Amino acid sequence: MKYKSTRGQVSGLAFSDALLMGLASDNGLLVPETIPDVSTKLEHWRGLGFVELAQEIMPLFIDDIEPTVLKSLVAESYATFDHDEVVGMQQLDNLTVLELFHGPTLAFKDVALQLLGKLFEHVLGERGERLNILGATSGDTGSAAIDGVRGQQNVDIFIMYPSGRVSPLQELQMTTVADDNVHCIELDGSFDDCQNIMKTVFADADYKAKYQLGAVNSVNWARVLAQIVYYGYASLRSDGATRFCVPTGNFGNVFAAYLAQRMGFPIAHLLIATNDNDILARFFATGSYARGEVHQTLSPAMDIQVASNFERFLYYYFDQDSQRLTQFMQDFATNGEASIGAPPEEALLSSVAVDRQQTLQSMRDVHQRFGYILDPHTAVGYFAAQQWLQQAGADAASSYVVVGTAHPAKFPEAVVEATGTEPTHPTLAALSGLPKRSQPLPGDIDAVKTYLVETLAAK
Ligand SMILES: *Cc1c(COP(=O)(O)O)cnc(C)c1O
Repeated sequence: MKYKSTRGQVSGLAFSDALLMGLASDNGLLVPETIPDVSTKLEHWRGLGFVELAQEIMPLFIDDIEPTVLKSLVAESYATFDHDEVVGMQQLDNLTVLELFHGPTLAFKDVALQLLGKLFEHVLGERGERLNILGATSGDTGSAAIDGVRGQQNVDIFIMYPSGRVSPLQELQMTTVADDNVHCIELDGSFDDCQNIMKTVFADADYKAKYQLGAVNSVNWARVLAQIVYYGYASLRSDGATRFCVPTGNFGNVFAAYLAQRMGFPIAHLLIATNDNDILARFFATGSYARGEVHQTLSPAMDIQVASNFERFLYYYFDQDSQRLTQFMQDFATNGEASIGAPPEEALLSSVAVDRQQTLQSMRDVHQRFGYILDPHTAVGYFAAQQWLQQAGADAASSYVVVGTAHPAKFPEAVVEATGTEPTHPTLAALSGLPKRSQPLPGDIDAVKTYLVETLAAK
């Protein structure tokens, strides 16, 4: 399998090159040159466990890592999860929560970033190369990325986070990691400042090459690939075609579901749940993709107004017409708005926005009815699915699989507000009292560049 860019200027890349490139060098996003059709294999795959299914799917997309090696990288990646089947499926009446938060940092990002870490380690080792990862996080990505590469020989990771604006638990998850290849930067600024610094550093091609910088943000193709597996897995565990509801921010998670459907997995509908940051809900209602103001909500990982993976969906929506896509993205960059003229003709996807009261209400209802605690992101999905079923006048047999993106103990304030119960998890409880390691820096690009250079020189 080879990879190409949505913008049309990059093609013929091997998987390993796509892995290391992250964002395509023409500023597009990398996608596979063809989408494999698995429909004839489904019969045989139905009984497989999560890891076995991952071991079947990965080689369809990765042909430049030896099959037996790839198989063990996949197995090692998921050995760190504390659930026998890696992911859980919790039935709550007519809805099922697909629990993706059994990895080391308790959010679904572990499913992709544990694998990404192993893939980097292998590919860099084979090539005798090093990589310095620079990332910006508003919460869950930082700790999941750090856990994916901690202790590795060929990788150093630098994660910037906005001082005082990530939750205390999220900060502890990053800054208590003791491995000396992990460098947390507590930036005096907002998450946008962190992200702008990252973009500016990456735009400096000489600096990027000299210091072997790489990225692990959600546009990395390997992250999408890893996420395809759980959609395939859950769809094969249900009767008939499955409908998923996905709490969405950057569109990476739901895009993996879209690809799983195109590969032939039995998937009937994808409901995109957003919080008050509803750019996607507005697009699916009107066809206009228009940047809005970012609102702070109870589900901070979805407080995003520009969904960085949405370009991949648009590329397929435009029948892989790179010119049309590039024009659309340029219009959006210039005007903060671009339109396809009318609501998209796309029966597979719909989107619903869920507000703060509705989020709290679904957490409260689920706790009262089932004694089960939803995290605020999953609660957005739960509410959206219930509402969708009601509006559709659906019969009692109708159901959705709601993607459970985080463990509730990561967001104790929202859970306490909704349910009066304080959620706990031993992994998080174990963090309190551990020494914090992070470097405070001013929100200034030169300070970050200098810190990186000096830290690497001191190794
Ligand atoms: C990252 C994240 C999301 C959003 O996922 P996208 O792939 O960006 O759409 C939702 N919930 C949680 C808990 C997350 O960490």
